[in-house]
Amino acid sequence: MGRAQAPLLASLAWLMALTQPGVAGPAAPDPCPPVLAQRPIPAAEASAAPAPGPSRSPTNADYRHRLRPTPLGWARLPHWCLWIEPGASTGPAALWDGRWRQAVEGALARWQRVLPITVVDDPERAQVRLLRRRPPVQNGRASHGRATLMLVEVRRGEPGQPASPWQIEPQVTVQLSPGQGVPAMQATALHELGHAFGLWGHSDQPGDALAALPGSRPVLELSPRDRATLLWLQAQPGLANPAQVSPAAARPAAGPTPLAPGAN
Ligand SMILES: [Zn+2]
Repeated sequence: MGRAQAPLLASLAWLMALTQPGVAGPAAPDPCPPVLAQRPIPAAEASAAPAPGPSRSPTNADYRHRLRPTPLGWARLPHWCLWIEPGASTGPAALWDGRWRQAVEGALARWQRVLPITVVDDPERAQVRLLRRRPPVQNGRASHGRATLMLVEVRRGEPGQPASPWQIEPQVTVQLSPGQGVPAMQATALHELGHAFGLWGHSDQPGDALAALPGSRPVLELSPRDRATLLWLQAQPGLANPAQVSPAAARPAAGPTPLAPGAN
């Protein structure tokens, strides 16, 4: 037992050193550098017909065939940076904001078991921004949560250092209502964060976090089908490099392109 634990402890110490720059060795590069420049994606490119979705899993052990890519490819990243709107820490609102935060952190912990996700304190460092507000009624439909995807072209980097090349990235806004009990909020957060991390589609089975219709009990854990679908997604190519999409000189101006396949 003691021998088996030693490598684990060593790797834990190494991980802790990585998270404390200056304590040991050179600091690892920040996985969530801020946006230094941003430009819109030409509407013609962003509104191109999306590639057809995948066919059904041979074993039906996932719901890949219910996911849809964006016109520029799958909105997936190998590592995500998430900003969570801070709440009140004192006063009467603190209790309610604390419950909301508890639900969000419960859901986030499930996704962090299967995806590298860093929580950041600056929204400019995030691709996913989680807001504590009830989504406005849309198409006559009220909901407790909504995820909205936009594709943008950005350069990221630390101020004063060379910026990354232009790259297309997903930017997702999640609105999560604070007006539910903790289990319901946590289930909604689990579902909406699934969209945010690239699962743009819905399962047809009520035990999955990404179920189209909620079952009688809130789903607080990722199902094996949720995890299998995410694994499949993470193996797909990500968004297209803009240099391969069209020459930069030919870009007409266009606003950011909202793309929300299967939001809610
Ligand atoms: Zn949904």
